[in-house]
Amino acid sequence: RLENVGFIGLGNMGSRMAVNLIKSGFKVSVHDLNAGVTKNFMDNGVPVKESPAQIAEASDVVITMLPSSSHVIDVYTGANGLLAAGSSLRPWLFIESSTIDPLVSRKLSVSVSDCSLREKLDGQENPFMLDAPVSGGILAAEAGTLTFMVGGAEEAYAAAEPLFHSMGRISIYCGGPGNGSVAKICNNLAMAISMIGVSEALAVGQSLGIAATTLTRVLNSSSGRCWSSNSYNPVPGVMQGVPSSRNYEGGFASKLMAKDLDLAAASAKEAAVKHPLTTLAQQISARELVFKLVLSLWLGEVGKIKLELAS
Ligand code: NAD
Repeated sequence: RLENVGFIGLGNMGSRMAVNLIKSGFKVSVHDLNAGVTKNFMDNGVPVKESPAQIAEASDVVITMLPSSSHVIDVYTGANGLLAAGSSLRPWLFIESSTIDPLVSRKLSVSVSDCSLREKLDGQENPFMLDAPVSGGILAAEAGTLTFMVGGAEEAYAAAEPLFHSMGRISIYCGGPGNGSVAKICNNLAMAISMIGVSEALAVGQSLGIAATTLTRVLNSSSGRCWSSNSYNPVPGVMQGVPSSRNYEGGFASKLMAKDLDLAAASAKEAAVKHPLTTLAQQISARELVFKLVLSLWLGEVGKIKLELAS
């Protein structure tokens, strides 16, 4: 039963995801603390609810797309939260799509499965929770081409696939509760480090006399190729339509990268896994305008090398 979908968190990503659900024919009701964003939906005849508890009352399935772990905990377990009705919940499925700490995903999954369903559904007595963060930015959210990485019960994942395919192009089942969140922070950890690596390589190359455009062609035809070299190049003028070509405006902000690296570092620490590159990437991303910073940092270093070679 996927007919009535409640959506909480109508920011850059969530507003676009909710619109795609509506376009696919789901009956969507929405909630957000920001009246500015709910007004757009209200003006288009979409029911707006005053609290997460009211969303739960109206929905078979609830999807959340919030900034970070603390917001998600508040929306689930706060006074007027999704789980406020305790032992008589209507939604049989909760899908949490924010990028959050996997330990929080796992704890909430337990809280959800400790609740009971108001009406048993095909023998199901307790609601399910899936952690289903996404890859792809605002453009992919708008185009309905996100990638979902999903943790939780496999039967719930299979039942929720029509929702994922209304908002995304690919969904990948990653295993038990929290594994979607694990996949998300590991993906962004790899992306952050490779992005910094590409920036450093292009800075070194330019300082040693090769044009960034030429070196990019080489990287993209060789083993250095990655998303940052071929889709999000950090040097202004090499690619059109990416942040580096508009003075680093828009795109995946350094502060979001820093948030995801903090989550990755905390999780690696918790699991007692060495993570030296995560720590370094964390320090670099904690500053604004990561590309500019990395480029200028390494251009400075390489400048010194060139001077030493010349003398
Ligand atoms: P956003 O800040 O634009 O939107 C978050 C929305 O949640 C806002 O409208 C805010 O008012 C609302 N909100 C906050 N607390 C609330 C509460 N207690 N109750 C109800 N509403 C509340 O964030 P975003 O860019 O849409 O990102 C959402 C999530 O997706 C984040 O976890 C982010 O890391 C992840 N993500 C973002 C991108 C991206 O490119 N922006 C890409 C992939 C994943």
